[in-house]
Amino acid sequence: MNIILIGPPGAGKGTQAATLVADLDMVQLSTGDMLRAARTSGTELGQMVAGVMDRGELVTDEIVIGLIEEQLISSTSLGGFIFDGFPRTLAQADALNDLLSKVGQKLDAVIQMTVDDEALVKRITGRFTCGVCGHGYHEEFKAPIIKGKCDSCGEVGAFKKRADDNEDALKTRLMAYYKDTSPLIGYYYAKEQLQQVNGLNSIEKVGGEISKALSKI
Ligand code: AMP
Repeated sequence: MNIILIGPPGAGKGTQAATLVADLDMVQLSTGDMLRAARTSGTELGQMVAGVMDRGELVTDEIVIGLIEEQLISSTSLGGFIFDGFPRTLAQADALNDLLSKVGQKLDAVIQMTVDDEALVKRITGRFTCGVCGHGYHEEFKAPIIKGKCDSCGEVGAFKKRADDNEDALKTRLMAYYKDTSPLIGYYYAKEQLQQVNGLNSIEKVGGEISKALSKI
């Protein structure tokens, strides 16, 4: 089963992908994570995209399609792939169809996570992760049990925020979502692959809705 999680920044795509990876043996392919890893390891690609990402703009189709192609060719997944943050443009959506057929696979469903803009600002500006294990938190909705200490790996004082999780970059990211990514909703609806879940619900409830949607495939 290969699926896309689509929704604006802060809709909860990464959180739900992590659950699907744990429960269904799926492999998460997040272009955002791949680009951040390239930046951390200081590759030429990482240096090239740093400014674009910090401003909240989209990197070129060519770059992200190349990253996904590499992963699709080199990874095996028993449960299938979860595309998280990809595709973000119609050109990327077409490329994904081609890449999947090239590796003898197909897209099974597109899950749209709906959330209103006000909730997104609150979610994004409050979120942070553990710099050691990557576990995600939120100042208001999911604070660590002991302040400053990661619930998951126990590391103390290693929390960090994404450079683009600030109000200015968020505005640009939202505009990019509405301008370039939201046309994909109509595209996948027309292909009868779109399913909607209400991303405003609790993490558990959204997870339940996604499972229900996937059980119909
Ligand atoms: P994300 O973690 O998905 O929010 O992505 C963080 C940033 O990486 C975005 O704001 C873009 O600058 C870049 N990015 C990630 N995925 C894509 C994509 N599919 N197309 C273009 N830019 C992307």
